[in-house]
Amino acid sequence: MSWEDNVRTVTPYIPGEQPQDDKKVIKLNTNEMPYPPSPKVAEALLKYDASSLRLYPAPDVGPLRDALAAHYGRKSSEVFVGVGSDDVLSMAFLTFFYSDKPVIFPDITYSFYDVWADVYRIPYELKPLDENFHMVKSDYLCENGGIVIANPNAPTGVSEMEDVRFIEDIVAANPGSVVIVDEAYVDFGGVTALPLIDKYDNVLIVRTFSKSRAFAGMRIGYAMGNSRLIKYLNDVKYSVNSYTMNRTAIDLGIASLSDGEYFKETVAKIITTRQWTAEELKKRGFAVTDSKTNFVFASPKCISAKELFTKLRERNIYIRWWDKDRIRDWLRISIGTDEEMKALIAAIDEITGRI
Ligand code: PMP
Repeated sequence: MSWEDNVRTVTPYIPGEQPQDDKKVIKLNTNEMPYPPSPKVAEALLKYDASSLRLYPAPDVGPLRDALAAHYGRKSSEVFVGVGSDDVLSMAFLTFFYSDKPVIFPDITYSFYDVWADVYRIPYELKPLDENFHMVKSDYLCENGGIVIANPNAPTGVSEMEDVRFIEDIVAANPGSVVIVDEAYVDFGGVTALPLIDKYDNVLIVRTFSKSRAFAGMRIGYAMGNSRLIKYLNDVKYSVNSYTMNRTAIDLGIASLSDGEYFKETVAKIITTRQWTAEELKKRGFAVTDSKTNFVFASPKCISAKELFTKLRERNIYIRWWDKDRIRDWLRISIGTDEEMKALIAAIDEITGRI
């Protein structure tokens, strides 16, 4: 008998590489925003009263929760805030998925979902996306212990809301389980399922400041749903760690929310650059999905995805490739500045002998 027999073992999630000296690298591998957060955030940071750090933060994240509620025209009791949406999603898995029946989600989606299921010992089942990387609605109309939908999805970039009833039909058909809709990328052109929270008490919308608000380093995520869902989520959160959000994050999150203009401007720039990048890749024979996110998902024609990924890396251009069935021929490329994307395309031309 060894103590190791009693360890909660798990295969951890592997995030994209974070090189230490990011100046030398064109970093298109973790879907960060290439532009800084709003100048109002920098201003708030400069004025920050460091002496306030001796005090614990608000355990219910009150001021930021209120600001988010006002921003979306919701009640504060319908909003939950966590340390990035990874924290929010992890707490939601722990709170709402407590059944012997499997939680279901697509085979190709955010690769943290199965890790949380494993670490919390939640049974789960993968439902294959169709050949165009769309979900098959009927797969989600069976008995289950919960449902997770990333919309738009990652790493495919595909959005299911071309059919506005898509998610509603799944939520309506599953009153016995909670449906988590992970909208990490929705600000870049997706359609939100947020209005469903007025009609259904079993849907939780999860969002993040990491992408569209350029706050990946600050770690703010949030969820919106029926007040009862949010209460259960808070009960579990307070039973693990009450003071998750630090004071600085709360204050700077409020500063970010106060600058709607800057938010719209930077998101619009990303969408324009994404369209340009997708077109340039298509001209070079790549298959490219119709991304509604801040990345493109593309499959090269005359070079393997793995080789292109490796050769770009040698040139200090970091993108993402997974050695995984069904997506081995695909690359996920985060949208950077126009200059970064031009450098990427030039490097692809050089590698593939186009120039
Ligand atoms: N959901 C999806 C689909 C993601 O791609 C990510 C980013 N890795 C997250 C959630 C988590 O982002 P964060 O914890 O930075 O909010």
